[in-house]
Amino acid sequence: MREMSVMHGMTAAIAPVFFKASCPDCRARFELSAGALRLAIGASRRTTFYSFTCPECGSAVRKPAGERIVELLTGGGVRTLRLHSTV
Ligand SMILES: [Zn+2]
Repeated sequence: MREMSVMHGMTAAIAPVFFKASCPDCRARFELSAGALRLAIGASRRTTFYSFTCPECGSAVRKPAGERIVELLTGGGVRTLRLHSTV
């Protein structure tokens, strides 16, 4: 019987997650790290959105976030803000 030595080092580095996004203002396409995005979860779908600042033109972009996007972003470590105000 052969014994295989498995090299289990502590090399499980957390890979940074990037999200593809585009700017509606300057139409630039880029990838944003989780830290550059913010997610706001409201009471309804209309108030659930994610936002980021365009690295090209600097405008604040806000886009609606569906369930799947919410899952993706929260799973990727994006800061999540839960809104409880009912306007
Ligand atoms: Zn832009």
